[in-house]
Amino acid sequence: MSAPTANRAYRPETRLVHAGTMRSQFNETSEAIYLTQGYVYDSAEQCEALFSGKEKGYVYSRYSNPTVAMFEQRMAALEGAEAARATASGMAAVTTAIMGLVRAGDHVVAAKALFGSCRWVIEDWLPRFGVETTLVDGTDLAQWKKAVRKNTKAAFLESPTNPTLEVIDIAAVAEIVHAVGGKLIVDNVFATPLFQSPLKLGADIVVYSATKHIDGGGRCLGGVVICDEKTIVDNFQQYLRHTGPAMSPFNAWTLLKGLETLSVRVARQTATAAAVADRLAGHAKLARVIYPGRKDHPQAVTIKKQMTGASTLCSFEIKGGKDGAFRFLNALNLIRITNNLGDARSLITHPTTTTHQRLTPEQRAELGIADGLVRFSAGLEHPDDVVEDLLTALETV
Ligand SMILES: *Cc1c(COP(=O)(O)O)cnc(C)c1O
Repeated sequence: MSAPTANRAYRPETRLVHAGTMRSQFNETSEAIYLTQGYVYDSAEQCEALFSGKEKGYVYSRYSNPTVAMFEQRMAALEGAEAARATASGMAAVTTAIMGLVRAGDHVVAAKALFGSCRWVIEDWLPRFGVETTLVDGTDLAQWKKAVRKNTKAAFLESPTNPTLEVIDIAAVAEIVHAVGGKLIVDNVFATPLFQSPLKLGADIVVYSATKHIDGGGRCLGGVVICDEKTIVDNFQQYLRHTGPAMSPFNAWTLLKGLETLSVRVARQTATAAAVADRLAGHAKLARVIYPGRKDHPQAVTIKKQMTGASTLCSFEIKGGKDGAFRFLNALNLIRITNNLGDARSLITHPTTTTHQRLTPEQRAELGIADGLVRFSAGLEHPDDVVEDLLTALETV
């Protein structure tokens, strides 16, 4: 197989198409799917050399696989990082990144506005193993400063957050966490690799759910952990090899195809989300519209400092609480009700009764998740059809 193309000098759009490609002796144009569990060896000696690590190569697909490696190398090149490891889902990536850094007696700080399952890992799972956790308001730097301790090994945040699209100052949080010797993990799903580069802002590890924009067609689950090679070898490699959250080679191939079109999809989806935000802002049936591309966003200054684009998502609060939101959702014709995002189809979610159902009403209020709030994810349809569907449905509220 040919060595992967590095493509470090090229711009992100070019890396998305070419980086990491390894061609077999057949010189195929598109990446091959190596749908194999294992590998055979020329001799017992070669097998021994591969197992001892003296010779580099593939021994078992729970450890590594050529198609998965192409996906990993493309993601690492995209982030300007040394290395990446793919996982079966975004949650496997998040769990690997956090669990790999800590042991009993350590402490983890996280921003409380988190994807539901991430919050469960931090609040319910880690404490079972003697890891203490503190949740803070991610936009309040004083709370991060107060929360970190000598034994804070990891900090975790997502920005923009789900579903209120708050933006956290990554460089400032990285400095606070580094002062006590901890590592900052950033869940960059909502920003996509195109609009925010957490490693360049000072974060140590980036995680993605590739299930979202990277797949982009609602087909596969996938995740990836991206950082320097030493951090992977010291903290994640053994965990990944021996607990087994490996990505399927078929999914890796699908995600490689997704990456090829990521930049054009995200550009179109962002333009549509911005059009939706502008058309809905000030609408009589809405209590508020939240969009990171608008001047009225509460963290507009931080957005300008750390992001190169806004968002493919826009959240808004329907007046009339849950009843108003449900009437609106049920009146939509084109936009589909679901909990996913980043798809080719425009999608809409009611966080209170789905992704954030597990939280108490007080916890939701603290996060600004009102009963009338909905989260819209722009697809690839004509923007006017999407806006018309939203406006028509709002008339029924
Ligand atoms: C979807 C999502 C995850 C989890 O990813 P899965 O692929 O569903 O396991 C984690 N973080 C964020 C921000 C997400 O949107």
